[in-house]
Amino acid sequence: MKIQPIRGTHDIFGEDLLLYKFIKNLISNLAEIYDYRQIITPIFEDTNLFKKPLGEDSDVVLKEMYSFKDRNDSFLTLRPEYTTPMIRAAISNNLLSKLPIKLFGIGPMFRRERPQKGRYRQFNQINFEILGTDDSFSDTEIITLADRFLQQLVSKEKFTLFINSLGEKNTINKYKIILTKYFEKYMSDLSKESQSKIATNPLRILDSDNPLDIKISKDAPKIKDLYSIESQRKFEQVKNLLDKLKVKFKIDEKLVRGLDYYCHTVFEFKSNTDESQNTLIGGGRYDGLIKLLGGPDTPGVGWASGIERLMHLSKKINFQPATVNVIILDEKYKEFAVQLIHALRENKIKTTFDYKYNLKKSLSNASANKVPYVVIIGEDEYQNNKYTFKKLSEGTQSVISLEEIINKLKK
Ligand code: AMP
Repeated sequence: MKIQPIRGTHDIFGEDLLLYKFIKNLISNLAEIYDYRQIITPIFEDTNLFKKPLGEDSDVVLKEMYSFKDRNDSFLTLRPEYTTPMIRAAISNNLLSKLPIKLFGIGPMFRRERPQKGRYRQFNQINFEILGTDDSFSDTEIITLADRFLQQLVSKEKFTLFINSLGEKNTINKYKIILTKYFEKYMSDLSKESQSKIATNPLRILDSDNPLDIKISKDAPKIKDLYSIESQRKFEQVKNLLDKLKVKFKIDEKLVRGLDYYCHTVFEFKSNTDESQNTLIGGGRYDGLIKLLGGPDTPGVGWASGIERLMHLSKKINFQPATVNVIILDEKYKEFAVQLIHALRENKIKTTFDYKYNLKKSLSNASANKVPYVVIIGEDEYQNNKYTFKKLSEGTQSVISLEEIINKLKK
């Protein structure tokens, strides 16, 4: 019986895993400098945590959630995103008594999307959230952190930051009504998918990549014409602060993001490629969400990034080969040799053994794996309690003691 992996899932190993760990380390170090605390939450939650906050008409809730009935008849969902679980955890653990609080998380998310390059059904996200302030510096702080993160992974010519403001919640609601009216006039010219969104989620038609929709959206009413003075002021502040911090951005009036909870600043970092899955980081402000989830009426802002998409863009990292390969010429020297291998490892020297007991095979193995040194153990070595130590690149060798090997390799 050969079991296949589940469609849209993937295993991470080898050099990809090195890159994955590198990215995790990089972001953990940045989180430390920017003073965020990590939180790890369960991968499954009550389905209600996602339904309303993300939007009953959002693609994620309509089509993509992995939800199931538990044995006690409650409904559970494998988390499709991390913002709502983080807020849920902050509320459950009383973390919102002193605000603001800055949290980050790393872990798998689950969405039943059509799998393709850069789009998986289980993928890994990095999430940052600032809960408890609507200061425009918190928007720019979290965007700047994302910008720094990306610049340390890929060169800055490879991505662009797009920002927009959706204004207040009631501005968005007004805008939705205006947009619905506008798109209704072009009902039959829109793509099938957008037609189904006119009444429920007209904002999403704006960021459709279907050429028919793009043409019609061009002349659609603009949300900026509905901003309140306060929204306008906030957005100007965010832009000014980004300028001061020398974070380059472009305004994208059609940027709306896919989930219901966003308001005011929204942003996306996109790779400058033609690939369809090119959003590397997406986020925005979500005032009102914490209250909706049963917490205090306090604002928040955050972003999420898919590690797999970053891995496609980043440079490969090569394995560090072992420092020394121990070659045992015959099984009868095994007991003598394993003690040497153990001693080398106890001295933190990366040591490998290939279980071949064959000089020729092991030597070619060592050079194929770019291992610089080998230690050879045969009858003479066994009798004299010394080892043949060889530097492969130079072909030089000497017969020396364990202490001498350790001294040479520790340098
Ligand atoms: P979203 O919550 O949809 O804005 O997603 C935030 C980020 O997560 C995106 O910018 C991607 O980097 C990543 N992402 C979202 N969906 C997927 C997916 N199906 N596979 C891989 N990465 C994803």
